[in-house]
Amino acid sequence: MSADRSGQVENVVIVGSGPAGYTAAIYAARANLQPLLITGFQRGGIPGGQLMTTTHVENFPGFPDGILGPDLMDLMKAQAVRWGTHLLEADADSIDLSQRPFRIEADGQTILSHSVVIATGASANRLGLPSEEKYWSSGISACAICDGATPQFRNAELAVVGGGDSACEEAVYLTKYGSHVHLIVRSDQLRASAAMADRVLANPAITVHWNSAVEDVSGNDWMEHLTLRDRTSGETRTLEARGLFYAIGHTPNTDLLSGQIELDSKGYLVTAPGRPETSLDGVFSAGDVADAEWRQGITAAGSGCQAALAAERWLSHHNLATLVKREAVEPAQAERPVNVEVTTESTFDPQGLWQKGSYALRKLYHDSDKPLMVIYTSPTCGPCHVLKPQLQRVINELDGNAQAVVIDIDADQQIAEQAGVSGTPTVQLFHRKSMVKQWRGVKPRSEFKSAIEALPA
Ligand code: NDP
Repeated sequence: MSADRSGQVENVVIVGSGPAGYTAAIYAARANLQPLLITGFQRGGIPGGQLMTTTHVENFPGFPDGILGPDLMDLMKAQAVRWGTHLLEADADSIDLSQRPFRIEADGQTILSHSVVIATGASANRLGLPSEEKYWSSGISACAICDGATPQFRNAELAVVGGGDSACEEAVYLTKYGSHVHLIVRSDQLRASAAMADRVLANPAITVHWNSAVEDVSGNDWMEHLTLRDRTSGETRTLEARGLFYAIGHTPNTDLLSGQIELDSKGYLVTAPGRPETSLDGVFSAGDVADAEWRQGITAAGSGCQAALAAERWLSHHNLATLVKREAVEPAQAERPVNVEVTTESTFDPQGLWQKGSYALRKLYHDSDKPLMVIYTSPTCGPCHVLKPQLQRVINELDGNAQAVVIDIDADQQIAEQAGVSGTPTVQLFHRKSMVKQWRGVKPRSEFKSAIEALPA
C-alpha cells in the first residue's frame, strides 16, 4: 500500500523499517490507527535495516532452522501491509517536532502527525582510512554478505576488521569465497557471542590478528595489500588482501532530531529505562536508535511493540485517535515475493519484460533494440531485495519500452567478471549493444526511469 496523504493529520507516523518499525506498524495497524510508515531509502542504511545485510538469523524465535535476514524482513513488511499499514518508500528529509501536529517532509510531501515512532536504527561505521575513497568498491566494502560473491574476491586473501558478531559472521561467510580470511581485531579479545567466537577460532581458514589496527590499504586499480600496525609494539607490516570488509559497529541515526529532543553523548535517543517514551510527549522510540546495549532483532521488535502500544494509549488519553475501521475483519493473506525462474531456451520470450540468467541476456543483447537493464545480484544481498521491486515498477511503468534481465553473480560468475561487476547490486543500462550508464548500490527509482526515457527512440 503506497501513500499520498498530504493534508490529513496521521494518528501515528513510524520512521524506519527494521524489525522495530515493522513491529510498531503491525501493532498500530491492528489497533485501527492506520499508521503511515516511512521506510527510509538511502539515508541511514537501507529499508529493512541491518538484517538486510545479514545471512542466517538463527536466534529469532519461531524459525528453528534459521531464516535469511532479508527473508525475515520481507515477511515483517508483508505482515505490516496486510493489516493496513501505509508505506511511504522514501527517506524522511526532515522531522520538525517543534510544533503540533508534528511535521515530516518526505518524498516531496509534508506529513502531519499527532504522534511519531522513531525507529531509524543505526548506520555502519567506517574506518576513514587515507585511501578509503579510492578503494571503496574496489576492495573495501561495508557488506561482506552483499559483495562477498564478487569475482575479484574469489580464491583471494580477504580481511575483515572488527571483533563483534558481525565481524565473526562475515569472516565465516567469506571463507566460502576467499582462499583465506584474516580477522583484524584491535584488542586481545572478541566481543562476539561465545557461539560465534568459537566458530571463528575453530576455523582453519581464518587467522585472527590480535591487537592490530588497519593503517591503510594499497594496490593498483584494485586493492592488493593492507598495512597493519601492532598496537602493542607499534610495528607495522604488510598483509596481502584483495578485500577489506568493515564490521566495526554502528552510529545511531538521529541527525534529523538533534537539538529537538534529548540525545545522549553518543547520539542515542534518551528514554525512561525500559520504556519507549522520549523527552517529548507523543514521540516514542523503538529499536537500536535508543539501544546501545542489546541491539538484537528480537529486542528491536519488542520495543517496536511497546512504542506502538504507548502511542495508542497516548493518542486515546489525549483524545486524538481517529480510528479507521478495516473493511475486511479478516484481511486477505499477505503477498509473498515471487522468485523468478532462470530463463531457458524454451521459456525465453523476446518481448518479456523481466527475465533471468545468461541465456536471456545474450539473446536480448544481440536481438532487442529496446533499452536493456541488466541487474547484477547475489543470493543473500539485502540491498538487491530492496532494489529489484523498484526496478520492476520502472519496467512495468515503461509499458514494454524497456526490458530487464537479472544476473545472479554467484551462478554466472564469468558474465559478472566480463562486465567488471565489483559488488551487488550493480545495474548496467544498454542500448543498441552499448552500455550507456552504470549504477552501484541502491538508487531512487526515478534515476533509472529518467535515464531510460532520455534514450533516443
Ligand atoms: P559491535 O559494536 O558489537 O562490535 C563492533 C566491533 O568493532 C568491536 O569488536 C569493536 O572493538 C570493533 N571496532 C569498533 N571501532 C573500531 C575501529 N575504529 N577499529 C577497529 N575495530 C573497531 O557491532 P556488531 O555490528 O558486530 O554487532 C552489533 C549488534 O548486532 C550486537 O548486539 C551483535 O550481537 C548483533 N549481531 C548479531 C548477529 C547474530 O546473532 N547473528 C550478527 C551480527 C550482529 P572493541 O571490541 O575493542 O570495542
